Amino acid sequence: MALQLSPELQWHFQHLKKRYPVLRSALIPMLLFAQDELGYISDDLITYLAEELNLRRVQVEETVSYYSMLRRQPAGKYHLQICTNVSCQLLGGCEILEHVRQRCGVPAKTPTSDGLFSWEEVECIGACTGAPALQVNYDYYEKLTVPDLEQLMQQLRDGKQRAPVAAASGALRDARHPAEVPVISARFGLPNSASIDTYLQHDGYEALRKALTQMTPEQIIEEVKRSNLRGRGGAGFPAGMKWSFVPKDTSKPKYVIANADESEPGTCKDRPLMELDPHQLIEGMLIAGRAVGAHRGFIYIRGEYRYVMQIVDRAIAEAYERGYLGKDILGSGFDFDLCTHTGAGAYECGEESALMESLEGKRGYPRIRPPFPAVVGLYGCPTVINNVETLSSVPAIILKGGEWYAGLGTPKNGGTRLFCISGHINCPGIYELPLGFPLRRMIEEVAGGIRGGKKVKAVIPGGSSVPVLTSDQLDTPMDFDSVAKAGSMLGSGGVMVMDEDTCMVEVAQRIMHFYAHESCGWCIPCREGTAWLRKMLDRFHDGGGRQEDIKLIHELAQNMLGKTFCPLGDAAAMPTISIVDKFRDEFEAHLRTGECPFARAATAAVAR
Ligand code: SF4
Repeated sequence: MALQLSPELQWHFQHLKKRYPVLRSALIPMLLFAQDELGYISDDLITYLAEELNLRRVQVEETVSYYSMLRRQPAGKYHLQICTNVSCQLLGGCEILEHVRQRCGVPAKTPTSDGLFSWEEVECIGACTGAPALQVNYDYYEKLTVPDLEQLMQQLRDGKQRAPVAAASGALRDARHPAEVPVISARFGLPNSASIDTYLQHDGYEALRKALTQMTPEQIIEEVKRSNLRGRGGAGFPAGMKWSFVPKDTSKPKYVIANADESEPGTCKDRPLMELDPHQLIEGMLIAGRAVGAHRGFIYIRGEYRYVMQIVDRAIAEAYERGYLGKDILGSGFDFDLCTHTGAGAYECGEESALMESLEGKRGYPRIRPPFPAVVGLYGCPTVINNVETLSSVPAIILKGGEWYAGLGTPKNGGTRLFCISGHINCPGIYELPLGFPLRRMIEEVAGGIRGGKKVKAVIPGGSSVPVLTSDQLDTPMDFDSVAKAGSMLGSGGVMVMDEDTCMVEVAQRIMHFYAHESCGWCIPCREGTAWLRKMLDRFHDGGGRQEDIKLIHELAQNMLGKTFCPLGDAAAMPTISIVDKFRDEFEAHLRTGECPFARAATAAVAR
């Protein structure tokens, strides 16, 4: 049957084809929007898109096969995607998955006989503080129990879908904790906080006005340097320094990219920043553009955050209407165009060079560096790429001064950051705290302590790719340098807390499943290392571990360190090494008993 596309989709395609300087960049959004309408990516669609974008079929196929959200087979009307990554796993995600599996009675990604449901186990969906969570198509349902899930499936069957989580619930509370210092979260909770009117009533676009009318590009960069703002995506590289690497004397266009491909397990802060205050991000990108001489920006948003992208798109349209985007902004002669771009499910695209490949419509493979993106980035042009939180911090820095911002944190660690605190705690949530805030106070005071009055066993302080800290390290100040001194990394600010009943072998196993799934397979130490580590940790967890495996797991992970093309290999190895080093007794206990010594406690916790 010939391909039938609705007029809306055809209009959307034409719009996307005009959006990018290079036609192929439209490929991934076109694939995803077509899949939304047609249910899957058919051979006919591939042929059609290849013709539309002047590509060969194989080029479209290679892109399709890389991204986990792109399907070559139809799914059910309601596709249930259940997260079992660490934060969800700790609070019953695996039990939710098992229940869905039994209720559907079909293999993963296969529609039920009535075509209503299909299901899939997925990696982190950015709802860690609302764990356990799942998505039905693009809608989020958080803090689920098995009875909730049963009710939800019945409502879907009856055609009365209950309201999904419409706001990033982890960031909204009746009252802020007194220790919080709201800078980038200051507008969270205001009525219509995402609208331009609210933004303008609360200092919105004043920093841009100042940057355009009172400051030179060099002064903007100096102010950001003075603030000691370090990248909030994970690496912690000084933002002002990164901007200063962009060449001034080039005839090439320059670009600014916001990395909103938030996919690090334990991390869900960019979601509320875009959902509740999108104009702050837009303003930060405009200022970055002014500082480096760029006139074009892209916000690369992970594909799962579809409703967030719609909010950001509305905010961009408002900014154009009011003259904050487009030509001659605020009469300054400065032009800047901005649009969103959707990812399609690949953790690797959070790595900046892989993200740019993806934005160009290709597989998200990382690039050889140097040259770095500041010199050779998107479309081979100088590019500033920063995390959403980093860019969202810029307006306050320009408005109130770099010195003021630096003073909120510790030396070399300026300002505040959004910590996503999840796991076995009473009040999971997203809290804005000054850098250097002690981990113990974060857990005991801010997040309300451990559930059921239990003790802390371990904490992952910066997303799943960093070494774990133990209960004797809780007095660590949460800034880049102090956490590094304690043997871990502040990373993305995803703080996952585990109580005394947690099986650390299972945590290591779950982390390795994630990295084995997300490895792009390009380099051997990562591709083979993560696969073998997953196999050995599965065997251990299932009671079939061997004494020599403990040493082997450790050695294999050690051998991956520093030997892979991008940081994903290290990210898989570091938590594994630390768990074997610090919880070797738990591996030994699995060997002695042939089963998980924590299984009963975990089952009881889920039942609670
Ligand atoms: Fe790909 Fe892993 Fe190599 Fe990174 S380290 S390039 S994810 S195989």
